[in-house]
Amino acid sequence: MAIEQTLVLIKPDGLKKSLTGNILTRLSETRLEIAGARIVRVTKELAKEHYALLKGKPFFEELIKYIMGEFHERRKVMALVYHGEGAIQKVREICGATNPEEADPASIRGAYGRITTSGIYENAMHASANPEEAEREIKLWFSPEELVYHIYPVKEAELKKVKKLSWA
Ligand code: UDP
Ligand code: MG
Repeated sequence: MAIEQTLVLIKPDGLKKSLTGNILTRLSETRLEIAGARIVRVTKELAKEHYALLKGKPFFEELIKYIMGEFHERRKVMALVYHGEGAIQKVREICGATNPEEADPASIRGAYGRITTSGIYENAMHASANPEEAEREIKLWFSPEELVYHIYPVKEAELKKVKKLSWA
């Protein structure tokens, strides 16, 4: 099996329900490694780019609000990159089907997801579905410096006059 990386997001409902520990514990069953992790405030631009392929779906606008945390008073998600053999499939399997009512009850979405009265699937986590999606999503959410292993090519550039925050 090929070494892959896959993007996981613990969505705002997962954070609000204090599921971070449970989800990470379930994902550790895969024996994959975490190559990067960050807490991210999701801008509208990032949300729309992440779900660009779903633009035009009837639930798109609500989905953008959901991933931005507008329904959960938590304007953030936890983003992780899992790394190892067959990572994409292994994580998708434990994650479970998109519709939490159809997901295996023992999967993360089956155990913790719900369908809201407005019809949005609040399914606690995101996982990349295939290698193309994984590459696009990982590059969207992480810079190479935030990952300890690189499976996609990187380049080095010398930066000048960069404004950065430091502790005062
Ligand atoms: N979604 C929804 N209703 C649908 C399909 C999708 O609310 O009929 C939401 C759900 O939160 C899902 C996300 O949109 O996780 C992205 O949809 P996708 O089809 O990519 O499913 P996933 O890859 O997350 O399983
Ligand atoms: Mg998807």
